[in-house]
Amino acid sequence: MAQIKEIETGLELEYETLPVLPLRGLVAFPDMLIHFDVGRLISMKALEQSMKDNQRLFLTAQRDIRTDSPEEDDLYTVGTVCTIKQILKLPGDNIRVLVEGTHRAAVEAFSMQDDCLFARVFRLETDPGRTSQRRKQALVRTLQERFEDYATLSSHLSRDVVLTVLDGGEPGYLADYVAQNTPLGFEIKQGLLEELRDVRRLEQVIRIIGNEIEILRIESDLQEKLKEQVDKNQREYYLREQMKVIQNELGEQDFGNEVEEYREKIRALKLPQESEEKLLKEAGRLEKMQPLSAESGVIRTYLDTCLELPWNTTTKENINLAEARRILDRGHYGLDKVKDRILEFLAVKSLAPQLKGQVLCLVGPPGVGKTSIVRSVAEAMGRKYARMSLGGVRDEADIRGHRKTYIGAMPGRIMTALTQAGSKNCLLLMDEIDKMGADSRGDPAAALLEVLDIEQNSTFRDHFIELPFDLSDVLFITTANTLDTIPRPLLDRMEVIEISSYTEQEKAEIAMRHLLPKQLEKHGLKKSNLSLSRETMVYLIDAYTREAGVRRLEQQIAQVCRKAAKIIADDQQAKGTTEARKRVTVTRSNMEKFLGTPRYKQDNVSKKDEVGVVNGLAWTSVGGEMLQVEVNVIPGTGKLEITGNLGKVMEESAKAAVTCVRSSAKDLGVDPMFYKDSDIHIHFPEAAIPKDGPSAGVTMTTAIASAVTGIPVRHDVAMTGEVTLRGRVMPIGGLKEKTMAAYRAGIKTVIVPAENEPDLQDIDPIVRENVEFVTAETMKTVLDTALRRPAQETVRAAEPHTTLPVVPAAVPARITRQGDIC
Ligand code: ADP
Repeated sequence: MAQIKEIETGLELEYETLPVLPLRGLVAFPDMLIHFDVGRLISMKALEQSMKDNQRLFLTAQRDIRTDSPEEDDLYTVGTVCTIKQILKLPGDNIRVLVEGTHRAAVEAFSMQDDCLFARVFRLETDPGRTSQRRKQALVRTLQERFEDYATLSSHLSRDVVLTVLDGGEPGYLADYVAQNTPLGFEIKQGLLEELRDVRRLEQVIRIIGNEIEILRIESDLQEKLKEQVDKNQREYYLREQMKVIQNELGEQDFGNEVEEYREKIRALKLPQESEEKLLKEAGRLEKMQPLSAESGVIRTYLDTCLELPWNTTTKENINLAEARRILDRGHYGLDKVKDRILEFLAVKSLAPQLKGQVLCLVGPPGVGKTSIVRSVAEAMGRKYARMSLGGVRDEADIRGHRKTYIGAMPGRIMTALTQAGSKNCLLLMDEIDKMGADSRGDPAAALLEVLDIEQNSTFRDHFIELPFDLSDVLFITTANTLDTIPRPLLDRMEVIEISSYTEQEKAEIAMRHLLPKQLEKHGLKKSNLSLSRETMVYLIDAYTREAGVRRLEQQIAQVCRKAAKIIADDQQAKGTTEARKRVTVTRSNMEKFLGTPRYKQDNVSKKDEVGVVNGLAWTSVGGEMLQVEVNVIPGTGKLEITGNLGKVMEESAKAAVTCVRSSAKDLGVDPMFYKDSDIHIHFPEAAIPKDGPSAGVTMTTAIASAVTGIPVRHDVAMTGEVTLRGRVMPIGGLKEKTMAAYRAGIKTVIVPAENEPDLQDIDPIVRENVEFVTAETMKTVLDTALRRPAQETVRAAEPHTTLPVVPAAVPARITRQGDIC
């Protein structure tokens, strides 16, 4: 398009009509190279037009960068005339254009032709002004300084730009250069473009850069703070993450120390070399493991368990017989024989300390003080005491432990008890050895045999510990209620001491001397707070307990103390401490208030002689019992009925009894065919309690004989013994307890098998004093003693026999032996 020169108001203006290329967010400055991408139709048209003409363009910024198709009003009227230097087609429809600004120009008018926006523009000349050269220099320097600062703060400036600015130049050019090459807002740049006075423009640039520096400083401050905050959070997160790793690392570190500690402790134990090496090896394995792994837990438990064992810890044994006697007497009334045996044992121990391997076994009914006297023995010997209960143990692993490879494996009871005792030469009480069972998981008795065997127990190996432990210094004492269920090999290794039931008098003594004071103290009462006479105690024993020992008695006394304590405490609260009641008296008549209605009738012996009713004596693991057997013969067809919860042996024994009576029917004076048209019913009362054993043979035979003959049985006679078909009386066990039961029940005469005669010496003196014993070899003696025949009547065909001497009370029993009848 032709150039026109016009002269207006004295000014010579250079007009030009050029295609307009609207810039978005950009401002072009004269003498600057600038490149941008073009994509919009309006811009394409402008480019096209320009390329057709003289490659000149008018570049002006649009006011709002969001406008897609700008019109006249959307464009600034001051822009830059540029020359296209290069056009580059980009992938897609875009074109990259490189232009060079020529001069500033202002729009006089816009026009549209062939979809292309044209502007009639006129050149704007910049004004260098009349400012002094110095001032200009000063301004340039100021700009340079600020720009340098700005460049250090802004990360968007290239080094070239900075160098160009530092290189200096004319203020107008520098101002434009800075404006073009710094990331300022396009409005600001437009403002600078429109400022034609060079110095002013430079001043503005300096101010703007100053502002920018401030903003950048604030920004960087904020960034710094933000970064700090973010950093703090990140740091924490990072540290936490690291901590886990560090913990692991530290764990290994700790672990190292832990292992070292283990090693030191292991060495300090001064174990035999083999054991020490094994433990050190385990500690070494621990070192190589993940500290928190399950397996390392197992090893740690193992090492801890091993370290706790008293490998070399012993207490000094000090046996002073007089002192031992004093200690035993202090804790227990009576039990003289037991105490003597224990003192003998201690005497041997003190004379021959090297003698090892004796195992005591205290046998007796529950509550007779077996456990508690063992405690006193430990005290008397100055040994540590540990107790392990064998009741219900069926698994060998209970004694010997589980291999540590099993989950939850533990050492066996022996090792646990030793750890508890904390000394290698402790006294180990094995309670209820008779209650031990065996099943498919192995026989615990076999393991115990090894424990108690002097030959083997110096190298006892628990499955868990896996190291030999010397048990030879341990003193083993076992307790049992009966010897019958203790495996023979085990029993052979033990020295048995029997403790028998207590008599009423003994119980009363024990209660008054030991149980009552003990319970008073337990319940916070003083002796003066409770008055309970010996006589009342005897009544309490009779009416509220029926036992061989004193366990239930102790419970009853505890109950009395509890009630008394409550009465005193209630009174104190009601009346205050001064007036309150200080003493509670328990008598026979107010006993019910404390213990409820009496459980047992005092005298359970029938006062009358009856036909077919006989007092039998039974022995149970809780002591002796008197049991009555009843026999009725009724018309029938020869049936035998046996009731009362009897075991197989007892049933067989009942059948044998019937046969025995039948075979001696003639002698008894009854028709031998009596059973043909009668039924015999044998019954043991208290049917809820299971009964078994052969020792009621004589009792049943006597009852049947009485029932078929119609001769009553003496109510004050009790008997025990097994019977053969031919009427021989066989020996039985538990005589001591049985006779005690008879004595307690007020029986005057007890018939025992002749073969048990030697056992009569062991019977409690008080029983011997009060009861007459008749030893019988055959049923004839039994029947002669028990049946109350009319004076002239004797058993037919029986050998003449002497009547039984009546042994007065308090005279040692005389034993009478009679001839055979069957
Ligand atoms: P066991 O072990 O025989 O079943 P315990 O040793 O448990 O019996 O005794 C039960 C209670 O009876 C304990 O409190 C005990 O002190 C007490 N005892 C038993 N016999 C006597 C006695 N002769 N002298 C003092 N107290 C006794």
